[in-house]
Amino acid sequence: MKRTPIFVLLLTSFAFAQTTPKITYIGCGSLYDGKHDEAQKNVTVKIVDDKIDSISPTTKATEEKGSAVIDLSHEVCLPGLIDTHTHVLLQGDITSEDYDVQLLKWSTPYRTILGTVSARRALEYGFTTIRDLETEGAGYADVDIKKAINNGVIPGPRMQVAGRAMDVTGAYPVLGYSWELKFPKGVQEVDGADGGRKAVREQISNGVDWVKVYSDRSYYVRPGGVLDDVPTFSLDELRAIVDETHRERRKIASHAAALNGVHNSVEAGVDSIEHGMYISDADLQTMVAHGTYYVPTLFVGEYVAEGRAAAGAKVWIKIHEDTFRRALKAGVKIAFGTDAGGFDWKIDPAREFAIMVKYGMTPAQALRSATVTASELLGMQEKIGSLEAGKFADIVAVPADPMADIQQLEHVNFVMKGGAVYLKP
Ligand SMILES: [Zn+2]
Repeated sequence: MKRTPIFVLLLTSFAFAQTTPKITYIGCGSLYDGKHDEAQKNVTVKIVDDKIDSISPTTKATEEKGSAVIDLSHEVCLPGLIDTHTHVLLQGDITSEDYDVQLLKWSTPYRTILGTVSARRALEYGFTTIRDLETEGAGYADVDIKKAINNGVIPGPRMQVAGRAMDVTGAYPVLGYSWELKFPKGVQEVDGADGGRKAVREQISNGVDWVKVYSDRSYYVRPGGVLDDVPTFSLDELRAIVDETHRERRKIASHAAALNGVHNSVEAGVDSIEHGMYISDADLQTMVAHGTYYVPTLFVGEYVAEGRAAAGAKVWIKIHEDTFRRALKAGVKIAFGTDAGGFDWKIDPAREFAIMVKYGMTPAQALRSATVTASELLGMQEKIGSLEAGKFADIVAVPADPMADIQQLEHVNFVMKGGAVYLKP
């Protein structure tokens, strides 16, 4: 029997699929495109397949035959939101016990099943893209969740992932049990400049988009209000890890919460500072000069404060607020990130927006941090972050104007990613 006809058939159906684009029109009551601070009223977004084709004033009966029409005339349309600091493999860890249970009692397959639910939740909250900053002991399960989303197996946001992350020996949980026992770790333990380069190579070969390092630990407040720390990696180690990451055309995020961790990370040339509860004015200036992003993750600090304080841990909300205000004033690029997973995924990470505004951002600045600025941090500014012809049709909607009430972003009621609808009012 001849095999050729099947091959020809496949080619024909492929060509046919290519020539019949899926057309969708969305009528938006108003629309923020992410580029301008003012809304456009009564506009129609034309979507062809997964991309935006045009945005134009709404006129009656412009829709082509066979196209889908979505009525959002009572909604405000926005670019899909971007959360640049999440953990889909983590389901809340207010206390170290919460964390240990997930690493010691839950298998990686079970955690991955939960991770797929977290990814779906992220999308339904309106986050059409996330940067997931390490799996906390679940290996490279984030690479697989990303793959399942990209292959259309499960619903979820676009993902950039960091895999296992790195810290020095003995600095990262699971910690505090008998020295006679061996415990899993929430990171890859890495020592020395050569060890750092080897770990970067290994992680990239396993599919990470980002490398993440933990640069400090063991925090305390000096008299005078400076949050001090114990740096983990030496500056030489950090420089080697950053160099190897950039040499392989990847980016590097640094968990750096206080004085020395931030300073070493900024000096070594990382791409983003995560948390940054305390950053010196001099380091803020270097961040401006280098174009280093600041991902402050404010909400998680407020949210876990009560539980962590009850468990005897210290919290530094006022210092964090002061740093955020100084960074904003200094002109540091601030990207939206929440640490979702550090708190339960049942809580909408968009609660971060209201805190950013409470700490001095305008609603427009807060929205930009989760759209245009976040897309630039991810190097995806040509594809996402604003609503423009040629970009992915990643569109969300809220019931009322978020510039008048930023908490509207906690009420996303329409989600489209790449032209496919995941949530409707
Ligand atoms: Zn985190």
